[in-house]
Amino acid sequence: MCGIVGYIGNKSAFELLKNALKRLEYRGYDSAGIALLDKKGKIFVHKDKGRIEDVLKEKKIDSTIGIAHTRWATHGKVNKENAHPQTDCFGKIAIVHNGVIENAEEIKAKLSSHHFSSSTDTEVVAHLLEEKLKTMLPMEALRETVKEIKGSFALAILIEGENRIYFAKKDSPLLIGIGKDEMFLSSDIAGFIEHTNDYIALEDYDFGYVEKGRYALFNAISGKKASRKALKALSKAEEVEKGEYEHFMLKEIEEQLTRLNEMFSSPIERAIEMINEKEKLHIVGAGTSYHASLLLKYLLEKNHKIESDAVISSEYRFLKEPDEKTLVIAFSQSGETADTLKTIRFAKQRGAKVIAITNIRGSSIDRLSDFSIYLNAGLEVGVAATKTFLAQMIASYRIASNISSKEIKELLSYGIKQREKIIEEAKNVAKYKHIFYLGRYLSYPMALEGSLKLKEITYIHAEAYPAGELKHGPLSLIDKNALAIVLLPKDITYEKTLSNIEEVKARGARVIAITDSLEGLNGVEKIMMAKAKREELYPFSELIQLQLLAYYTALELGRDTDKPRNLAKSVTVE
Ligand code: GLU
Repeated sequence: MCGIVGYIGNKSAFELLKNALKRLEYRGYDSAGIALLDKKGKIFVHKDKGRIEDVLKEKKIDSTIGIAHTRWATHGKVNKENAHPQTDCFGKIAIVHNGVIENAEEIKAKLSSHHFSSSTDTEVVAHLLEEKLKTMLPMEALRETVKEIKGSFALAILIEGENRIYFAKKDSPLLIGIGKDEMFLSSDIAGFIEHTNDYIALEDYDFGYVEKGRYALFNAISGKKASRKALKALSKAEEVEKGEYEHFMLKEIEEQLTRLNEMFSSPIERAIEMINEKEKLHIVGAGTSYHASLLLKYLLEKNHKIESDAVISSEYRFLKEPDEKTLVIAFSQSGETADTLKTIRFAKQRGAKVIAITNIRGSSIDRLSDFSIYLNAGLEVGVAATKTFLAQMIASYRIASNISSKEIKELLSYGIKQREKIIEEAKNVAKYKHIFYLGRYLSYPMALEGSLKLKEITYIHAEAYPAGELKHGPLSLIDKNALAIVLLPKDITYEKTLSNIEEVKARGARVIAITDSLEGLNGVEKIMMAKAKREELYPFSELIQLQLLAYYTALELGRDTDKPRNLAKSVTVE
């Protein structure tokens, strides 16, 4: 959520920061802004609500040092005053912030002589720093500020007359991109990947500054110098470009066929050992990642008789009591999902061990976990997860079953070939207001994921049920205005699901079956899927059809598939 970038070097900071913000656009935002340090060391701020290209239309001053921000409002309305950068009383300090300052009101009450011009929690930090700078040098003032503020923050700060960018971090991601004669700050690698692959991931309570060609890094609690491992970003600049595609989502759906080798490459042996060592197994995730959790649970139980609980991350703390006998497996694409991060901390404090399954090396969840499996899906820009879900499925099957990239590729390729039929069906799907996704056994997590994809990007109300559950309530909603999309593999669930289709048809609803069989199917629209050699592989046969159906329905409705309203890619608030 929200993006922070900072640049200090020899290039024009305005252009560079604007492009970097565009690269972070996918994270979701409502306002944009920039602060630049001019030749005389004065701070120039420009910001407003709205899109980056509208707010940052033209370069106003020449500068090679600056910070910029896309806001995802938590405190205060979406308007110009609340957009970042936020400043102190005299415009001598400019701050961009990602996160939430929980004790902002308390601090504000103590700063009664200050004039506040926004309703953000962020502005309080600028004034607190201003106050401390009255008696302290900048690094000391920053350290004291970091110690006093509570909550989550990634901060980049300009101070008048200082040719450097200060930063601090806790519970929100912040990276330093290391160039030759230049330095970058960014919420994720997309913000600097076209300039450098070298970076460090800051840890909680890290603070310091970047200058041209160097950085200084300390820990606010100990006050000591901190050293962090230098990392290499494996992604390439092309990954944050659409190329010939109209949307990232379609590009990323198709990439599923070409990135399989990478998705199979992360070692998993240690994860299997850890699963066998522990008595209790909790699998957690949020959104799409929860669907992967459920799939893994089913596979472990079916194939290995290993019982586990799949729990939605934000529910975990209220329900579970992890201990030394517990292993938590956490799915998080970004590795920064706040709900999942909090779950991991909670479990670790109680002695549990944690395996992370994430796409981002060096992310908070990666660092906090005892072992990580990397998705290696490449950067995913579309807000709706596609290729990272496939990579999560692959990780799950590698843990709990035995699969090869060749067999998966065949199943996925078949899905892509259904495109024409799917485009035709999407025209009909777009006319419905209520859609039910039904599936049993392994097709149930897939129904959940199909339904989530559709509602995320089309804004059509969709729900998923285990097909047998319909008659226990939801059937009362079925009439001629409803559409059921039924996952119907020719496996142990076929006959039973077929009866559920009859129940739906009898109430006048339209039915689309995603299936590999025509047996007993009348009066139903069909999208075909590949026959799987083993029943447990059917989810791979269903995946692309579900994704493409959501995508083309969204196009039909004129939706922005890459940036659906109200949603953010990396959900860093609870
Ligand atoms: N809490 C801050 C605000 O509402 C920062 C939000 C963000 O992370 O973009 O302005």
